[in-house]
Amino acid sequence: MAKTTKNASDITVLGTDAEAFRKAFTDHIHHTLARSKYTVTDHEKFLAVAYAVRDRLVDRWIKTQNTYYEKDVKRVYYLSLEFLIGRTLGNSVLNLDVESAVTEALDEIGMTLEELREQEVDAGLGNGGLGRLAACFLDSMATLELPATGMGIRYEYGMFSQKIVNGEQEEQPDNWLRLPNPWEIARPANAIKVPFYGYVVSWMDENGRLRNRWETKDYVMALPYDTPIPGYKNNTVNNLRLWSAKSADDFGLSYFNNGDYIAAVQDMELSETISKVLYPNDASMNGKELRLKQQYFLCSASLQDIIKRFKKLHNNDWKLFPEKVAIQLNDTHPAISIAEMMRILLDIENLEWDEAWDIVTHTFAYTNHTLMPEALEKWPVSLFEKLLPRHLQIIYEINARFLRMVSMKWPGDNARLARMSLIEEGGCKMVRMAYLSIVGSFAVNGVAALHSDLLKTTLFKDFYELWPEKFNNKTNGVTPRRWVRKANPAMSELITSKIGESWVKDLDDLKKLEKFAKDADFQKKFMEVKKQNKERLAKYLKATQNVDVDTNTFFDVQVKRIHEYKRQLLNILHAIHLYIQVKDGKEIMPRTIMIGGKSAPGYWMAKQIIRLANAVASIIDADPDCKGKLKMVFLENYRVSFAEKIIPAADLSEQISTAGTEASGTGNMKFALNGALTIGTLDGANVEMKEEVGDDNIFIFGLTVEEVTDLLAKGYRPRDFYEHDDDLRRVIDLITSGFFSPDHPETFKHIAEKLLSHDPYMLCADFRSYVDMQKKVADAYQDKKHWAEMAILNVARMGKFSSDRTIKQYAEEIWNAKPCSIKL
Ligand SMILES: *Cc1c(COP(=O)(O)O)cnc(C)c1O
Repeated sequence: MAKTTKNASDITVLGTDAEAFRKAFTDHIHHTLARSKYTVTDHEKFLAVAYAVRDRLVDRWIKTQNTYYEKDVKRVYYLSLEFLIGRTLGNSVLNLDVESAVTEALDEIGMTLEELREQEVDAGLGNGGLGRLAACFLDSMATLELPATGMGIRYEYGMFSQKIVNGEQEEQPDNWLRLPNPWEIARPANAIKVPFYGYVVSWMDENGRLRNRWETKDYVMALPYDTPIPGYKNNTVNNLRLWSAKSADDFGLSYFNNGDYIAAVQDMELSETISKVLYPNDASMNGKELRLKQQYFLCSASLQDIIKRFKKLHNNDWKLFPEKVAIQLNDTHPAISIAEMMRILLDIENLEWDEAWDIVTHTFAYTNHTLMPEALEKWPVSLFEKLLPRHLQIIYEINARFLRMVSMKWPGDNARLARMSLIEEGGCKMVRMAYLSIVGSFAVNGVAALHSDLLKTTLFKDFYELWPEKFNNKTNGVTPRRWVRKANPAMSELITSKIGESWVKDLDDLKKLEKFAKDADFQKKFMEVKKQNKERLAKYLKATQNVDVDTNTFFDVQVKRIHEYKRQLLNILHAIHLYIQVKDGKEIMPRTIMIGGKSAPGYWMAKQIIRLANAVASIIDADPDCKGKLKMVFLENYRVSFAEKIIPAADLSEQISTAGTEASGTGNMKFALNGALTIGTLDGANVEMKEEVGDDNIFIFGLTVEEVTDLLAKGYRPRDFYEHDDDLRRVIDLITSGFFSPDHPETFKHIAEKLLSHDPYMLCADFRSYVDMQKKVADAYQDKKHWAEMAILNVARMGKFSSDRTIKQYAEEIWNAKPCSIKL
């Protein structure tokens, strides 16, 4: 039977009812995957559903991009070396508003949506908070209908997978693209040439102007892979463009007929290593040449692409550029963009320096993510000279002009000039990427109020004195779609049953829950949901790690990258303290302590902390006295999809960094939004969480930033704390004794020794107040109704920490970007 001709509107939007999805699933199993019902695998069923969903994003995606051209809107580009996305299926189904149709149609497939989601591998193209922030921002920018594009690298190997073998971390490669990625579309036709190495040629042009040109024969091609980013229940579908490195020879762009065919092919492999693997260092930099290549690769491909798009509408009307483009630098990783844009404007577009500089400094904005000195990027001048000779020249010129300006304002202050120079002098001259970012940007922001204040008084004090107006704060947030609505469906349903579903988009609407905080029936249901989530996690832990956890115990959770400043060790000291209490015959509240997170492979101390956590866990596990009272679990391979199961199950969220070290944190926000109470220091966004939820609904302990500074100034002696606190002494002595490593008693001695001698993160100073506050937590949990009330109030008052609020502030206060609605 011939079908009746469809009219245009039927053709542009594929059906979104259950019947249309049923047909789409079978079509994709047959025609896209060439499978029958006898041969199709569970993963292919996931692929079929993903393709069906993607098909329904495509019209909106094209329409969105067309609208941006037609309306000639100002565009935002979010440049980031990391996008820690996790899974996409559930989020796309939710945002496309096809949850019920897809769910109904799944009878065709014989799997539930949750089972299908488990088939999807995480896109783990990031380390931790910084990369996950970029992913939350993509969701919020699309939801707020902002004309925004994410740009990053399509690493072939994402964040390594963590195995715990004999109590230690082992890294396994994350070959996430071994299975097809149904979300991306390759666009080899839009490949961009990225140069490296070579030399600079200078000459006088006909107008007597000194001109420079970068000459090189070394190119790598950047192939864009595009992933659709749908907004929540609107028609916006933005683009995430990830660049993949391909040999230029593949494009017939250089020598191939030189006779040495094999060597030529080997060379191709070499240039393709640029996008091979994500560097697994969180909050530290390791100075490898390949990493700088990755940074430049992203920046050059992105800038050329951005400029090409600008020129399509505006030719050489460069004055318009800052009105039409804002580029946000996620930390200093993409800071070379500033020099790259100068190069393009000067050498290729023939602009004068002042004109080019004016455009650049009205286009870029920079987000700082850390106060930790070891994370501040510096690259050897010698490496720049070899890899990016023209950029080094440009950076020198930026620096010369900048320092001239500084010396006009502070004549004779040579110490200040040396402090502020983009070039650090000394044995090995270095380019200071944070300073390049500040000088080349019109806005510089920190990621929580405390952090932004500290930037102005410490790290960037000199720059704040010069340009106070550049500095601002944008407190981080998380997307409520993934971190509440998807991660915690049971709680979401309960909330919606009381206040409707507007909160998913307007998280401040959670305020309406406050009036149910004392409602006994609501409290009961709220705690039942928490119990369900604990059971969901327990089942998963049994299936994946073969550990049994008792869901009647209190779930005390710390998951985040393992880092000394985050003080997982303080948590472990408390676990040992509780163990000693049990051995002393004292009653304690039954508790399951869960710690999870990855260490950078080369971060020795963090790996020792993982070892100690596992060792203490196994001693506790093997001790019958602890049964039903104390349990400790190391959560293996913490990642986004695991976080979505862990966080909704937590009773207590550990946010215990040394005051002044955690820029913001976002894990803290996810936990509180899911009804966990926080034990934390006055650090990062904890400070603002306390303001929002109220002092009575959060457990704050420890030194403040001022107290840390004062104690350091007068001379911190950790041994004094050890000598004056019996509990601390017994804990440290037990570690020193070799009790947790009976076969090799020396194993953990160095940890105790470091605590007593240096203790740079002041665990000894904070131990007493932490242990006391943990006791208060335990006492508070005994009053189940009051606990429920506090947990509900946390959820009700966390609206501020939606990334929608954060992005609205970026759009209004930094980017000057306006929403653009998409009409189908
Ligand atoms: C949110 C998140 C983080 C950041 O956690 P912090 O506690 O803020 O350090 C890291 N990793 C994953 C997988 C996350 O989801």
